Amino acid sequence: MTESDQKVFDEDAGAYLPVFSRYKIVLDHGEGPYAYDIDGNKYLDFLGGIAVNVLGHDYPPLVTAIAHQARKMIHCSNLYYTRAQADAAAKLVKLSGLDKAFFGNSGAEANEGAIKVARKYAHSLDPEKSQIISAWNSFHGRTIATLTATGQPHYHEGFGPLPDGFTYVHYNDLAELESMMSDKTCAVLLETIQGEGGVYTPAPGYLEGVRKLCDKYHALLIFDEIQAGIGRSGKFFAYEKYGVKPDVVTLAKGLAGGVPIGAFLTTDAVASTMKPGDHGTTFGGNPLACAAANVVLDTVPQPEFLQHVETVGSYFKAQLLKLQEKYPTLIKEVRGTGLILGAELTIPGRDIVNDVLAKGAIINCTAGNVLRFIPPLIITEEQVDEVLSMIDDVLPKYC
Ligand SMILES: *Cc1c(COP(=O)(O)O)cnc(C)c1O
Repeated sequence: MTESDQKVFDEDAGAYLPVFSRYKIVLDHGEGPYAYDIDGNKYLDFLGGIAVNVLGHDYPPLVTAIAHQARKMIHCSNLYYTRAQADAAAKLVKLSGLDKAFFGNSGAEANEGAIKVARKYAHSLDPEKSQIISAWNSFHGRTIATLTATGQPHYHEGFGPLPDGFTYVHYNDLAELESMMSDKTCAVLLETIQGEGGVYTPAPGYLEGVRKLCDKYHALLIFDEIQAGIGRSGKFFAYEKYGVKPDVVTLAKGLAGGVPIGAFLTTDAVASTMKPGDHGTTFGGNPLACAAANVVLDTVPQPEFLQHVETVGSYFKAQLLKLQEKYPTLIKEVRGTGLILGAELTIPGRDIVNDVLAKGAIINCTAGNVLRFIPPLIITEEQVDEVLSMIDDVLPKYC
């Protein structure tokens, strides 16, 4: 830590809302899967801005597209059409097989919009059809409605009263979901793969079962793919991996490679209940964000790109399982698919993350004790080896 680092820490402490427990480095720039701090130290970035920098840092086509669009026009109102937004919407509709897209600026806004369209649609069937069911241990965002949908009571504390109409079930428990559902169920909102909660994948048959229950009760199935989507699972949408199609899907994090954006996609049947004035946004889907999204949407869905995610992800998982064999008392379980992987520890993970940072890699711990790997999708097997050898170096201290 240098004097200039300390200056940033002090400035931050005097001015920024203290809601993050930050790691003590000041990041400055990046290239590919590497990030550099202001002192020039290099880190292999296996967090990728929390599943955001899918194409790595300073990816030339992305930088060029953003610069080009910034020179033409950064923003105009959604009262007008832009080529960039129409293209991004058309690409998402084509990729998903859904019919309509809407752009916001974040994951929370994407889910907020999804909840709104679900409520509007259900209301058109029955004004009392308002129940939204989400999962315990889920994460859907920080606005009041998405916070309420987030099934982690500790995030709710002190923010009440929260809106009515939200209930929770255990992820992967179909019988419990069935017992909670009725004609009053408006929607079931699930992460296709739970990220923040500790990287939990759906059990075989679970999502198909959820789909059937939603059909039975005329409830909408909303998949939150803000973290697991955009190629991370090895398919562009994680739901493609499980062969289950939602009525609404939400995206954000990786969608514009680092430029803030969020989106929800839905069917014509749902979209048709939304009329001019029912929803809106000033910034959402502006030409700058959509120009960036268009690069991601032209790159990530390519079969070779997705195959790379699948290949390097399988390699990564196999190596994590080997690490588990080496440290059976420290690593309880390895979970995930593609490049959304988790290693559940028997101890808290924060000190390990700090030790690995000192060795030169950015990794993450979620849910207190799950090392979570959501790196740029362009990482190589050699870089996987590099990070795992750093972890291997620090683990003996914790045995
Ligand atoms: C990150 C995340 C969100 C919230 O996104 P923000 O952009 O932080 O609002 C919602 N759902 C999931 C699954 C996420 O991973």
